[in-house]
Amino acid sequence: MNPVIELRHFINGRPTRDAGARWGDVFNPATGRLGARVPLASAVTTGAAIAAAAAALAEWANTSPLRRARILFKFRELLERHIDELAAIVTAEHGKVLADAKGEIIRGMEVVEFACGIPHLLKGEFSDQIGGGIDSWSLRQPVGVCAGITPFNFPVMVPMWMFPVALACGNTFVLKPSERDPSASLFIAELLAQANLPKGVFNVVHGDKEAVDTLLTDPRVAAISFVGSTPIAEYIYATGTAHGKRVQALGGAKNHMVVMPDADLDPAVDALVGAAYGSAGERCMAISVAVAVGDVGDELVAALARRARALRVGPGTEPAMEMGPLVTRQHLEKVTGYVDLGVAEGAQLVVDGRGLRVEGHGDGYFLGGCLFDRVTPQMRIYREEIFGPVLCVVRVPDFEAAVALINAHEYGNGVALFTRSGNAAREFVRRIEVGMVGVNVPIPVPMAFHSFGGWKRSLFGDHAIHGPEGVHFYTRLKTATGRWPQDMASAASFVMPTH
Ligand code: NAD
Repeated sequence: MNPVIELRHFINGRPTRDAGARWGDVFNPATGRLGARVPLASAVTTGAAIAAAAAALAEWANTSPLRRARILFKFRELLERHIDELAAIVTAEHGKVLADAKGEIIRGMEVVEFACGIPHLLKGEFSDQIGGGIDSWSLRQPVGVCAGITPFNFPVMVPMWMFPVALACGNTFVLKPSERDPSASLFIAELLAQANLPKGVFNVVHGDKEAVDTLLTDPRVAAISFVGSTPIAEYIYATGTAHGKRVQALGGAKNHMVVMPDADLDPAVDALVGAAYGSAGERCMAISVAVAVGDVGDELVAALARRARALRVGPGTEPAMEMGPLVTRQHLEKVTGYVDLGVAEGAQLVVDGRGLRVEGHGDGYFLGGCLFDRVTPQMRIYREEIFGPVLCVVRVPDFEAAVALINAHEYGNGVALFTRSGNAAREFVRRIEVGMVGVNVPIPVPMAFHSFGGWKRSLFGDHAIHGPEGVHFYTRLKTATGRWPQDMASAASFVMPTH
């Protein structure tokens, strides 16, 4: 049996032991075994990470954008070289299958690639001769020390939505990763150090509410990026902004996929199965509601049921597996509780994944794919985010009812429509109140050079993450107006200059 690892924070360029910390346990979800113990930082330790980032700020902000980008180029190269090790760390603590773990690293690397080109986006605007001999121009400058607070479900990709952009823009960073799968962030910190990132520019502090509250209230922190559940996102936004910080807080989701009667059913079913059960449904862009329009319901449910029953569920380290375990025992119990609730609420449980036994992994946190039919908008299994391999089918009579259903939901993260009608697709994209929309694409995650973010209670704040919105979030706009002395008129003027 492997020894239990005692994790470190990463502060001021080196792993930092935290003798006085409270501790959390990190389990391997496929085996149920304790793999590591994670220090939960006190306010003092979190303050030390902030102090390191604050001390490194002036020099990093003054480093030319090109030099900053070159470090990120090197970091990207190291990520590619070490992708297998990093994916193994993700699978050991999160549980997702290895190929999916690599997928999230590659999506994260794409943000690093975007950040390598940020010097182009930091260029300001210039207006010549706005008055006699006067020019005006704008600059985008770093905001200062930025903090990232991230969820368990993408321990590599979500931090990489944030820090590559923040660093490329000249900020320093403190990452507070999920305490449920914290090791990937330390591996990333080591790679950044190998890429010659100056010490203090990127720090990792592990912890829970105490560490987070310190980041939210410390006056040295200028901006907070958060990704996680909606109640915490709302709290982060309210507390961070009350302390004068710029905050982007991405929350939970209930993503619908509408299947129109004219859709090609096989690709729609393939799309639904992957989007509902991939990563055991622990994705903020997972499809958790299939909306069957018109008479498509019976055929759709029959095809989904066949596929859900045939899912290959097991440890993420086995290449043949399509779905791994849930992240923790508590989360398994929560998701199983929702399946019980759905039955009690009167939904029809067509496929029941409860009680799944995985040979040789009796203590793993496995749940088979679950499928509910005849779910109604009043049921809690429809209204609430389950975040597990549970797909609900809601039947509606027509396109209008599908749009009304989705627009009435409190979340607005992602949505998809499967159809052959260009007009239906166009109407859907225009009228749906959701931040990320797919047309015959089940998980419409924007590429790194676009921006990611939901609407309604899926995002608090004014900026989506990465892409051009990320650059705006991590920079402050300054506009200058100037002229050089040459035959300057010297009389004082007391009225607004007009042209
Ligand atoms: P979570 O909200 O429990 O935790 C997120 C972060 O907040 C963690 O770092 C955690 O330590 C911290 N935290 C937890 N409770 C806190 C508290 N009371 N005070 C201060 N900080 C606290 O989320 P999770 O379970 O790790 O992740 C799953 C959630 O994240 C789902 O709701 C999912 O939809 C969401 N998510 C959203 C997106 C998106 O882009 N919108 C992406 C990924 C995940």
